[in-house]
Amino acid sequence: MEVLAPPLAKGRRVLLLDEMRTLRLFSAIVAALPGLARAQSTPAYEVYAVRFATQPSYPTRYLVAGADSARRSKLAFTVWLIRGGGRTMLMDAGFYRPKFLDSWKPVAFTRPSDALAALGIKPEDVTDIIISHVHWDHLDGADLFPKARIWIQRAEYEHHTNDSGAVLDRAIDPDDAKMLAGLKRAGRVTLIPGDSTEIMPGITVFTGGKHTYASEFAAVHASLADGRTGTIVLASDNAYLYENLEHHRPITQSLDTLSNLRAQERMARLASEPRLIVPGHDMDVFVRFPRPGNGIARIE
Ligand SMILES: [Zn+2]
Repeated sequence: MEVLAPPLAKGRRVLLLDEMRTLRLFSAIVAALPGLARAQSTPAYEVYAVRFATQPSYPTRYLVAGADSARRSKLAFTVWLIRGGGRTMLMDAGFYRPKFLDSWKPVAFTRPSDALAALGIKPEDVTDIIISHVHWDHLDGADLFPKARIWIQRAEYEHHTNDSGAVLDRAIDPDDAKMLAGLKRAGRVTLIPGDSTEIMPGITVFTGGKHTYASEFAAVHASLADGRTGTIVLASDNAYLYENLEHHRPITQSLDTLSNLRAQERMARLASEPRLIVPGHDMDVFVRFPRPGNGIARIE
């Protein structure tokens, strides 16, 4: 036994070493798996700004805190299309109810659902709509898309309305509150639990912009020009114009100016490049991203 023991032990030791090598290799593979799985399952989305109306002249001081009262800005009304991974998603739904057209008199108005036709998208193709905040020009069009699931922050929903569509804060239009509550009762609304929530692979939403009670912006893993990928930030009205972002000026309509500035700083950290932060109402988006054109800008 004593004679046989050493070779066995030696053999066993070799086996152990092999096992350890195998284990180490296995551990390394397992450690790499989340990254591999992510790379395989996270789509690089195509992102577009789709303009469906404009406002020719709007006081800039209502957009950029402290702006000269003589200045006017042209406003774009926009929905953002996020396409990939078998989904056709929107951030925000625009507006279409006649009372908004009557009171705001936008020019070059097309229903948001029709504006998507230029990209070959029918209203029933839209699978999801991420509502950045409850203002009429972002929420009102949600019922134009018969199959879409609506994503909104729970705090934003509960602060402004309830399942009977009451108006709990005047930031929400009464008809939009009823419409949103109706979609909720129909089981088509998902309430997002808070800040920094990845609601789809590669799409994470963030609060803190404080345009409304729990307004949100989104960071999207996107396909860019020349086959690159990167992170696009859709700011919506948490940054109205490039001027807010580039001159570090809070939006005028904010419940918390410092929180708004911090949110803009966060956008800058999240976006792969500063140029990939897309403000909510700036006409220049369609100049900086001129393709394919005619009110549609591929953010790339
Ligand atoms: Zn807006």
